[in-house]
Amino acid sequence: MAEVKLQHIYKTYKGNVEAVKDLNLTIHDGEFLALLGPSGCGKSSTLRMLVGLEKITKGDLYIGDKVVNKLEPNQRNVALAFETYALYPPLKVRDNIAFCLRAKSVPAPEVDRRVREVAEILDIVDILDRKPGELGGGQKQRVSLARALVREPDVFLMDEPLSHLDAAQRAHMRVELKRLHATNRRTTVLVTHDQLEAVAMAERIAVMNLGVLHQVGTFDEIYNHPVNEFVAGFIGEPPMNFLSCEVVSDADKVILRAKDGSFKIMMPPASAQKLKTAGISAVKLGIRPIHLTATHSSSSASVAELEGAVHTYEALGEEGQLAVNVGQNQLLIVTDPHERFERGNKVWLQLRPDHIHLFNAETGITL
Ligand code: ADP
Ligand code: MG
Repeated sequence: MAEVKLQHIYKTYKGNVEAVKDLNLTIHDGEFLALLGPSGCGKSSTLRMLVGLEKITKGDLYIGDKVVNKLEPNQRNVALAFETYALYPPLKVRDNIAFCLRAKSVPAPEVDRRVREVAEILDIVDILDRKPGELGGGQKQRVSLARALVREPDVFLMDEPLSHLDAAQRAHMRVELKRLHATNRRTTVLVTHDQLEAVAMAERIAVMNLGVLHQVGTFDEIYNHPVNEFVAGFIGEPPMNFLSCEVVSDADKVILRAKDGSFKIMMPPASAQKLKTAGISAVKLGIRPIHLTATHSSSSASVAELEGAVHTYEALGEEGQLAVNVGQNQLLIVTDPHERFERGNKVWLQLRPDHIHLFNAETGITL
């Protein structure tokens, strides 16, 4: 087992493509960490550098207390389960799994024992004598994971391991992979663009965009205290609403005003204080769809209220999703399933004051 430490890691491909920029990240010994971000943000490049399939352009990679930049993949004791299965079609499942152990001249009884063990963990004992062509997608995925795990690596890496599975298999494998980690407490890194996967399995989540690591933390930390507008908008489904506002200070009050005059929001004391401290004239206000309430009349008690018109309403069984136009902005609200709204209806939106997020309009950084 081992801690993995990335220090000022860069990856620049030919043609000056900067896939990873100044990445600093420590994955604790025994931890399950998810590397999460949109497609093309540098996740796979990072994993490939960890495993040794891609040269590190700059920076130091530690596994345990050793710098391993120059070590070959087979000297690192890191195993990667690929997003595509890459199983050898002529070999039985059992021989696919055993392949790398035999290549390292592990004695036959030991090979059999270890193959049997991972097969039991991954529930594939009954298909050990089949060939890859005779397997379904979920089974192939398990074999691919078994082949990586059988090496008993210090660090176990997975790149979008569930991408080829249907929804039911994905849900099942999420539980399985989490259980697997709880059993062996192997340092594990999961790469995914799917926040649900990250949240369901990982202990901490590292959020990347455009080659840059933005934030690392538990889901609660990232969801409740995003460091910037990107993280705030990327984590949470449906995504956070953003409103561009001018800041107007009037005696001890602070008001946020839309440029098009469509709303004015009186800031609750805590937010007002943040805005005063920042001393800026333009901000983005962020509010999640579940932290807005829509009513058919104005609530005079509410300090933070917007007036708008219903654009669309979808009843989705367990909840409703309401899109409301407020001037040139459109906001999404998650409502109770039994509520009904008609297109064009006037509605009032109350913002839950303790759930208002504020970002510097220029830098996107959280105030
Ligand atoms: P992700 O896994 O997050 O989708 P990647 O690490 O695969 O992202 O890619 C990051 C960026 O690097 C992308 O812009 C991608 O096009 C580019 N890239 C990836 N591999 C190569 C390569 N071998 N040569 C040139 N550019 C690459
Ligand atoms: Mg990728």
